[in-house]
Order: sequence, then structure tokens, then C-alpha cells
Amino acid sequence: MSDCIFCRIARHEIPAAVVYEDEFVIAFEDINPQLPVHTLIIPKEHYEHIGDNVPEETLGRIFATVKKIAELKGLENRGYRIVANTGEDARQTVHHLHVHVLGGALMPIRMGPAD
Ligand code: 5GP
Ligand code: ZN
Repeated sequence: MSDCIFCRIARHEIPAAVVYEDEFVIAFEDINPQLPVHTLIIPKEHYEHIGDNVPEETLGRIFATVKKIAELKGLENRGYRIVANTGEDARQTVHHLHVHVLGGALMPIRMGPAD
């Protein structure tokens, strides 16, 4: 998946505002933030989404990084939202597994179907 945009970010081939990085994952600011904090976490390996035979260790690394980002951004006390849009119904647009960490403002309750 050499032309995948998130693979290219993971390889530092295209710029991103990187918040955290280790051997397994990289976290960077969303280019089109929806809230004061909007950080994306991706595994460095390419997986289309959570259903793409992702090793459990990788899933664990991603969730451990969620916690780190929440701490780095000062969100642990006030709360935050984790979103992983997966496939068509969820309108996933970038087909490299990623988790959105959203926070810094009170969010809408509504999580139902589109109108
Ligand atoms: P999805 O809709 O697939 O869950 O979310 C993809 C997210 O990636 C969107 O929020 C979009 O703004 C973000 N995004 C798309 N292309 C880029 C990019 O080149 N750089 C960064 N930092 N974010 C991107
Ligand atoms: Zn990729």
C-alpha cells in the first residue's frame, strides 16, 4: 500500500503534526479538526480497518496510545470520544485503520442513523 496516504505519513514521506510515535503506532493531528482536540492514531502497518486481521497486540498498542494522547492533551478528567469509522455505513474515507481521539468541548449525544 505504498500510495496510501496514512502509510506515507507513517513513513514521514508527507508532513503531519506528529503528537506521538513509537515502533508500532504514530499519532498526528487531523488535517480538518472537528473539535479543539482531534488526533488520529494509526498502526504503522497497513490494515484497512479493524476487521482486516489486525493482530491483537496492534489493537492493544492503539488503545494504549489513546490513553497517552488523552493524557498529553489534558483530557483524562473532562473526557473525550474515540471513533473508528469502519467501512461504508460509517463513511470511512481513509482506508488505513485509524482511531480518532476527539475532545476539548462538549459533544452531541446523537449517534443514530443519518437523516
Ligand atoms: P475517516 O472519515 O476515514 O474516519 O477519517 C479520515 C480522517 O483523516 C478525516 O478526519 C480527515 O480529515 C483526515 N485526513 C485525511 N487526509 C489527511 C491527511 O493527509 N493528513 C491528516 N493529518 N489528516 C488527514
Ligand atoms: Zn496504509
